[in-house]
Amino acid sequence: MNPPLDIAPFTSWSGGKLPLVIAGPCSAETEDQVLQTVKRMVAASDGISMIRAGVWKPRTRPNSFEGVGAIGLPWVKAAGNAVGLPVTVEVANSGHVELALKNEIDVLWIGARTTVSPFIVQEIAEALRGIDIPVMIKNPVNPDLQLWLGAIERFTQIGITKIAAIHRGFSTYEKSAYRNPPMWEIPIELRRRYPQIPIIVDPSHMGGTRDLIYPLSQQAMDMGFDGLMIETHINPDKAWSDAKQQVTPEALGAILRDLVVRQPHLEHNEFHTLHELRAKVDRIDDYIIEMLAERMGISEQIGQFKKDHDLAIHQSERWAAIVKRALANGKTGGLTEDFILKLFQQIHNESIIHQGKVMGK
Ligand code: PEP
Ligand code: MN
Repeated sequence: MNPPLDIAPFTSWSGGKLPLVIAGPCSAETEDQVLQTVKRMVAASDGISMIRAGVWKPRTRPNSFEGVGAIGLPWVKAAGNAVGLPVTVEVANSGHVELALKNEIDVLWIGARTTVSPFIVQEIAEALRGIDIPVMIKNPVNPDLQLWLGAIERFTQIGITKIAAIHRGFSTYEKSAYRNPPMWEIPIELRRRYPQIPIIVDPSHMGGTRDLIYPLSQQAMDMGFDGLMIETHINPDKAWSDAKQQVTPEALGAILRDLVVRQPHLEHNEFHTLHELRAKVDRIDDYIIEMLAERMGISEQIGQFKKDHDLAIHQSERWAAIVKRALANGKTGGLTEDFILKLFQQIHNESIIHQGKVMGK
């Protein structure tokens, strides 16, 4: 399927340069907080293309700050007007759409918790029938490309042509250094399916901590993505939502200055092949480590069993059997004997350390 798409506004907001930067607080808290954030951002960097702020906040647990509501819409619009930039807010139902349009919000975004729900996405899309407003669609919380594609298609089908995708990482049950691990292969596949749709990376929700914003932004640029959405606050530690991941306007300016941007414009080219391959390698490496960690966990269980039954840690016949099996599998996969042996010696050593930990208790 090849829907009619018009990415011209996104290109022109960024002045034809990469990246398209969308910045502003996670949440609009007060009129002054929004205005000061925006003024300081624009003073700290000339690379900002659009202002963001949430007024309705989808929170995982009730009784956290759920946004100031519609009262914040004119604050956001006025802040955008003050610096001459378009503004975007998250909408999560048709009522939000109506209020956002009434307040002349320039661009709407669909949050990750909304993209998971075809009913709500359809409701929002219907509310936009016949209205020519740009919409940015965040990936669903769970790593499901079909759901993301489906949400995009619900908008293209009702006639929205100005569409961007926002990649904000995916929720996982596994422990991770990221709040929402990037799983780059998913947006890469989205781009393969819809090469015309600009993809904006949100390192704030991906990383979950300020320190990760720069490296994730650089990775996004290295992979040729088109833009960044970065949460920015005048006093991040005191923010009413997502305090840990917000940066000051000045820190945002520094991040943008330090970025090395290799792609000159919003077009995708053959360099992506290399980035795609590297993303696959990274994914496999992550997987290897995850599997090794799981294996060590099982070694600890075995250690416990040996302790309970008074067995020695090192059982030489078992080790011989492991090596034999690994060498045979390695041979089938075209891996050298030397490599397999060294690899398994290392794994075995680590495993003994883990078992010893349990047995020494
Ligand atoms: C946000 O952008 O503030 C937000 C709630 O993000 P997400 O939908 O990605 O969690
Ligand atoms: Mn947020």
